[in-house]
Amino acid sequence: MVKKKEINPAEMQVEDKLKNLYQLQTMLSEIDKIRILRGELPLEVEDLEDEVEGLKTRIENTNEEIAEIRAKINEYKTKIDLATSKLDDYKSQLDNVRNNREYDMLNKEIEFQSLEVELANKRIREAQIAEKSKEELVEKSTQTLNERSQDLEVKKNELDEIIAETKAEEEKLREKAKNIELLIEPRLLQAFKRIRKNSRNGLGIVYVQRDACGGCFAKIPPQRQLDVRMRKKIIVCEYCGRILIDPELAGIKPEGTQEEKPKRKRAATTAKKTTTKKTATKKTKAAEPETPEVTTKSEA
Ligand SMILES: [Zn+2]
Repeated sequence: MVKKKEINPAEMQVEDKLKNLYQLQTMLSEIDKIRILRGELPLEVEDLEDEVEGLKTRIENTNEEIAEIRAKINEYKTKIDLATSKLDDYKSQLDNVRNNREYDMLNKEIEFQSLEVELANKRIREAQIAEKSKEELVEKSTQTLNERSQDLEVKKNELDEIIAETKAEEEKLREKAKNIELLIEPRLLQAFKRIRKNSRNGLGIVYVQRDACGGCFAKIPPQRQLDVRMRKKIIVCEYCGRILIDPELAGIKPEGTQEEKPKRKRAATTAKKTTTKKTATKKTKAAEPETPEVTTKSEA
């Protein structure tokens, strides 16, 4: 490593450039695997956090509305009190009327105040119905809030656990990847990263398997395959643009490549489960040599 650092990466042999790139790919694929393991959890946690926040706001707003309704009800009650005392007043005055005109006026007032009381009572009943439905909404929302808060707690703990488990490993891999990146000329590294970013499986460099590109499985013409084996130029797949590497240079034995494709699929479906399961499948299914490079390669 130290010796290599003294060499200008641009002046490196193509063979070494490819080797370094492939090693970098292996590290990055390992990091991708950790990400897959975390899966949708970070998003789920975020969604739940948003939902909990939304429910809290809704409950708060509805409680404010309930308070307003109650204030209104109190206003109506005051109105009724006032009208009732007036009614009492008018009714007592009826006993002392001096003429018909006064009598009629009092009766009109009594009628008016009675209507006021009636109307206020109607408004109170309406407000009480609204109050009740708002209270039910608060109750329902609170129940949902409690459920979601519990879900959030569980998911958060799950995520924290996974992060704690994988954090050290991920940091170690990132450190290694950084060191390898120093050995790769910036232009090539940039190109590699661009290819990797644009590919669904995160592979920027793949080895040739069964005369095809290990990334998109398009057939590679014999002349191009020969160029890849020569290791004198950086050759890319004509279809997907991924950098191609001779399997031998990547540390893959030709016989093992036969099982690459189905294994890749299996690995992808189990990826969301546990690492232990994954490595178990890998060990039993893999017919290839047990070098770590090979196993990580086929995983990605
Ligand atoms: Zn391809």
